[in-house]
Amino acid sequence: MTERQFIPMIRAAREGCQERIRGGFPLQEHWSILRPAMADPLAISLPRLRTHLEALSRFGRNPDGRGITRSCWSGAHEEARAWLLGRMKEAGLSTWVDEAGNTFGRLGNGGPSVITGSHIDTVPNGGPLDGALGVLAGLECLQTIHESGARTRLPLMVVAWSDEEGRYAGLFGSSAFAGKLDAKQIPRLRAADGERLVDAMARAGFNAYDAPKARCNPKTLSAYVELHIEQGPHLETAKIPIGVVEGIVGNRRNWVTFRGQSDHAGTTPMAWRRDAFMAAAEYALRARRLIITKGSGRSVTNFGRVEVGPGVSNIVPDRCVLLHEMRELEPRVLARLERQCLALARSVAKKWRLKVTVDPISKSQPARCAPRVMRCVEAAAAGLKLKVKRMPSGAGHDAQNLALVTDSGMLFIPSQGGRSHRPDETSDWRAIERGANTLLYTLLELAG
Ligand SMILES: [Zn+2]
Repeated sequence: MTERQFIPMIRAAREGCQERIRGGFPLQEHWSILRPAMADPLAISLPRLRTHLEALSRFGRNPDGRGITRSCWSGAHEEARAWLLGRMKEAGLSTWVDEAGNTFGRLGNGGPSVITGSHIDTVPNGGPLDGALGVLAGLECLQTIHESGARTRLPLMVVAWSDEEGRYAGLFGSSAFAGKLDAKQIPRLRAADGERLVDAMARAGFNAYDAPKARCNPKTLSAYVELHIEQGPHLETAKIPIGVVEGIVGNRRNWVTFRGQSDHAGTTPMAWRRDAFMAAAEYALRARRLIITKGSGRSVTNFGRVEVGPGVSNIVPDRCVLLHEMRELEPRVLARLERQCLALARSVAKKWRLKVTVDPISKSQPARCAPRVMRCVEAAAAGLKLKVKRMPSGAGHDAQNLALVTDSGMLFIPSQGGRSHRPDETSDWRAIERGANTLLYTLLELAG
């Protein structure tokens, strides 16, 4: 489809809500049914939520019929946005899209808002629940409340944040909303394939330079709560239906470069060599050990890239670069681990008679969830007789940006096999229903 055909179609779709339905996605049902056991029978409609999840999963479905590729600002994403706006209107919400492409639906007026939501973009070849669940369960909750005739003291909003997955810039929409988007960076933001954010947004009918205008007034916010699949195995393993997120881990990403000396790989005695790769390999193994034994017990680390130079079989490597990442919820533990890894890199370099440099790429501080939101999630789960477990989120989420401007929190439901960011990412329909009902009562609690 050409751009000329595409933009008017999206505009029409944003108003007229065209629905495109091609095939469903399989979610398995094997857990027992837990009905909300409260005097108040208010409950979400699982059939409607399921229909919506299946419908959304068809936008950006790959030709093989399995994975979903719905990067922000792509044609599939903009069709999905138009579809979502249609569902929001149908649910009786007032709707708008802000300058950063965040899509909002609101129920009620006056007073600071209680917000829920997540994102509708996916990673390449992703699954049907990451993000989509939080947006559509949020919509389902607002629709349920609206149809029940119940009035909350505070207005409720559901939002789909832009580019959470970071084709151009991770957590883009919520960063703009939280006022932490650096306007000077906008022309420099590019996808891995080189495409500029400015061009991608223009194609979808947005002006990227206006995105910082999406900055919120924190006085208009009361709280944010996001439902998400866990994307890890902990809840499923523990057979616990609801995870109450204590915070979102912070990270450190560094280039660790060892510099030695290139020599003939056939003639140089082993003891003479100043082999940059061997030092890097020793550092990687020992840093992993350090983070397991000296971290919080939940600290994790990863070496996502290794470059060896000059990179031929008959020359001893004189250069080895590691892309080293570590994540942890406790800020002091994270800072200490980073210092200890730096000391370790220096001592390994000395042992191999090399030089080492550590260059930071990025760092994020851990974001604590608001105790008030955690207590509301726990009260909602207790009302539904659901067990909970407090846990950190090892993955980044928009809730960490919202924590900068309001009381922010998250709840998780189990991911089957801990699988996510892949086509077979799935959860159980009853688990989804339990999560959505817990979100419903959390929102009612937060909004009074
Ligand atoms: Zn997500």
